[in-house]
This record gives sequence, structure tokens and C-alpha cells, in this order.
Amino acid sequence: MDSPNRPHMEAWLRYFDDLGLSPFYLDRGAAELPSLAAAASPAPETTRGAPSNASRRSAAASPVLPPPRPQDAVLPVAPSLFDATPRVEGDSLARIREDIGDCKRCRLCEARNTIVFGDGSETAQLVFVGEGPGHDEDMQGLPFVGRAGKLLTQMIEAMGLRREDVYICNIVKCRPPGNRQPERDEVATCSPFLDRQLAAIHPRVIVCLGNVAAQTLLGTNKSISQFRGQWFSFRGSKLLATYHPAFLLRTPSAKSEVWTDLKKVMAELGLKPPKPKPRSA
Ligand code: SF4
Repeated sequence: MDSPNRPHMEAWLRYFDDLGLSPFYLDRGAAELPSLAAAASPAPETTRGAPSNASRRSAAASPVLPPPRPQDAVLPVAPSLFDATPRVEGDSLARIREDIGDCKRCRLCEARNTIVFGDGSETAQLVFVGEGPGHDEDMQGLPFVGRAGKLLTQMIEAMGLRREDVYICNIVKCRPPGNRQPERDEVATCSPFLDRQLAAIHPRVIVCLGNVAAQTLLGTNKSISQFRGQWFSFRGSKLLATYHPAFLLRTPSAKSEVWTDLKKVMAELGLKPPKPKPRSA
């Protein structure tokens, strides 16, 4: 292609490749949850987030999770960055946040507004790990609060949980300028904090959202499309990777795959989808 549009097209292809969706143009099927479908917008976005949503909490009762099931067979994974992180006895989220302080350990500190540490329950049995804060997250200091965050909240509620029942965090805690992907050295510098968060919470299930989170935790260069929806073992937790909600905003047809993945997580946690509310006359 010799047209002036070639650089733009190449950038888009690189973006989809980074998300592990190559080839992204294949038909993915149409089935999807109505609640997820209602949240979706096919309009492309240039940032990970959008106008903030101050109140994301559901008033539904917190479900009581059943005891763990016997471990299923899991796939072996390569050593990751996390294998080098020393254990901290008696660690807690508060102590980790204190240790981060006004962090300037990597160049991402230069353009950030706020450190986005994480949000949710310290005793969560389910943790979602994304890539890094976007604009809205950087302004509010909370993870997943833009359009993609709103969709993630709806996904969590479709699973029969409330957002405050789970824990949500990112690979890096400061917004990469222009919402670019975090560089390898930035990930290496920041990931020990995430490792400590995961160790302190010790959830039954970790869900990686997108290629960067999945590749970082699993220590692989493989594209997420090669292992999406498969169970892995991660330091005593079960780990599954699925697509990032920001991608679903651009590609609603991929929601059926994500919902298939989330149903596996629900089965592992013994969750059933909430019953639909009766329609008022
Ligand atoms: S991204 Fe992590 S390591 Fe880098 S400055 Fe922010 S908190 Fe520190």
C-alpha cells in the first residue's frame, strides 16, 4: 500500500497485534450477554478511558463463595519476572502502598498525575490485572474508571459479583504517556509491587486483561490469542487470560469469547449469573 494512509493502517495492525488479535478480522460469532452488549460501543477510542463514572458500586448483596474445588490440570508456564521477587512476611496492601510512596523508580513518574495503586477487597478471591492507567484513571487515582472500566464493572456484575468483591489493579501504576504500552524496563521496575499485591491477597483466581498483563505474569512472548481462556497455575492461584475491555469497546463481536472465559471463572468460583430482574408492568 503506497497511500498516505499506510502509516495509520500499520499502527492499527500493530495495535491489534499487541492485543494478540491477529488476524483480528476473523468472524468471532455473535452470541453475547445482553448486559455486556448494552454497554458496548463500536466507536473507536483513542484513549483507554472516557468520561468518569463516579459511582460504580452495586447495592446487591455480596455472594458467599463456596470452598475451593480440587485443582484442575493446568498448563506449565515459563518463569516470569515475578519469580525473582522476594517474599515479604506479613505483607499487606497498606504496607505495599506505603513502600511505593511518591515513586520515581521509573520514567513513568514524569508525566503521571496520580499513582493508581489498585482498588477492591484485600480478601478478594478474584483479581483482575490490566495493563496500566489511562487518562481517567490517572486523574482519579483508581483503576478502570473510564469507558473500559464501566464495561469491566458490568462484566463483574454479570458474574454475580460486585466490584468491591474483587480486586482490580494494573501491571504498571503510572499512566504511560499517550496511553502507549509500558516498556519492558518500566514493567520490570513496577511489577514487584503487583507481585506483592497478588501475594498479599492470594486470590483463588487471577484474570489477566489483555496481552501485556498476560505476557508479564506468565513470562511469555506468545500472543494472548494462543492461550486465551486456558487455565494456568500462578503461585497457588489459577490464572486465565482474556481480552481487555478496551478492545471489546472497539470489537463488540469479541465479547462472546470473553463471556466464555468469564463463565469458566464463575464455574471455578462456584458462581451463578444473577437472575434477570422482572420487568415492571
Ligand atoms: S510505574 Fe511503578 S515503578 Fe514506575 S514510577 Fe510508577 S509506581 Fe514507580
